[in-house]
Amino acid sequence: MVDDRRREIRRKADSFREKCKISRYGIINLFKECKRCGYKLFRYPLGDTADLGFTLKRDDDIIVFINTSIRLSREIFTLAHEIGHIVLHLDKESAFIDNHNTISGRDVDEKEREANYFAACLLMPSDEVERFIDLELPCFDKTGLSSMDIARMMSEFNVSYDMVLNRLEYLGKINSNQKLCLDTEKTEKRVGNLLRSIGGNAKLNAAGNEIDIPYEYLEYVIYNYNHNAIPKENLEKVLGYFCLNIEDISDRLVVHTEINDNLDDLIGRHQKRARGPLP
Ligand SMILES: [Zn+2]
Repeated sequence: MVDDRRREIRRKADSFREKCKISRYGIINLFKECKRCGYKLFRYPLGDTADLGFTLKRDDDIIVFINTSIRLSREIFTLAHEIGHIVLHLDKESAFIDNHNTISGRDVDEKEREANYFAACLLMPSDEVERFIDLELPCFDKTGLSSMDIARMMSEFNVSYDMVLNRLEYLGKINSNQKLCLDTEKTEKRVGNLLRSIGGNAKLNAAGNEIDIPYEYLEYVIYNYNHNAIPKENLEKVLGYFCLNIEDISDRLVVHTEINDNLDDLIGRHQKRARGPLP
């Protein structure tokens, strides 16, 4: 990636970040920011061996899907990576599917590297990292960083332990030896324990298994059910995501019965009941 392209990506990450609600250093809730931009965000637990997420453009909609079976910090990075594809690449391509290889692999193509760089600049901009070290870690120049300091940065920026290490190394704040030592400390002390010991956000280190689906999706599913495109079981499953059951939306449903279909044929007009929208 040449310097001009890096600068352009930093500029785009900055301008996205300017629209976000920020705590002292980090974006408070990237999921909300994604929705606020008008992207259709789906969060669903696909299993920890499935893809991490994907982005696609369909008609006027931009759809982002994130697998919630992975650690929350990883999920947030995946979302930042997908936003990178949207901002940088979706004008030329209509879909990106991401897994551990495309996001963390060594032999990824240029677009994957760009999306990762965008995500790093969005979640941990260099000036905010600088400010954190200056204000929160006054002994940095004398004693360097401990694993608890890394856990503090995790909690402030809502990122993973590994991401903090990678970003600090990239920004020249630690060298490869220091990174290795901090990585060893992580294995010995465990990230969950470190987060708890500093009163940080321990949820970052666990899979949330969240189910969060745009309400419009329910409309597509009802439409498809009413047009015989999906069985009742699928409708019921989707209703479950919204804590609804068939009775709750019965006035929206076409009644599929053989008698009605035969009546249609007999009287020559569409007899199926399609009632008004939910109040
Ligand atoms: Zn990607």
